[in-house]
Amino acid sequence: MGTESIQSPIVQFVALDKLIAMGRANSLWPLTFGLACCAIEMMATGCARFDLDRFGAGVFRPAPKQSDVMIVAGTISKKMAPAIQTLYEQMPHPKWVIALGNCAISGGPFVFEGQYGIVEGADKFLPVDVFIPGCPPRPEALIEGILELEEKITGSRRWPRVEAG
Ligand code: SF4
Repeated sequence: MGTESIQSPIVQFVALDKLIAMGRANSLWPLTFGLACCAIEMMATGCARFDLDRFGAGVFRPAPKQSDVMIVAGTISKKMAPAIQTLYEQMPHPKWVIALGNCAISGGPFVFEGQYGIVEGADKFLPVDVFIPGCPPRPEALIEGILELEEKITGSRRWPRVEAG
């Protein structure tokens, strides 16, 4: 989803567009909500030790109309999915979605034959921009996901990429 969902203007101001994208990428406002254990990791990411504020994304907003990032953190039950969809629709454009953890990516450990209560991935009903694997992913992984989203918005990487050792 993101900025592509907004129709391009006829006259384009490239420098201004880049400046606006940089402003958006460096002041992401996630929606305050969590679904299961991965939400605890998300909360830890916003607290003092990991300090998401360093990346401009620490201002979790209590209302969808004030948010531009939905972090789907946890197991998505079929009962909860319509409420999540409503929250997403109430967010103004441009907006982005991060699927945090294996449950939000694919149903995680709750996928088995005959399961009937879990949606097997946020991308079944939301346009997910960044997938962060793990059960749960560590706060560093969420920070990396935020940096990936920033790169998607601006087209360039602000921090060096850490290669697996
Ligand atoms: S991925 Fe693991 S830690 Fe995250 S919500 Fe699912 S079961 Fe919990």
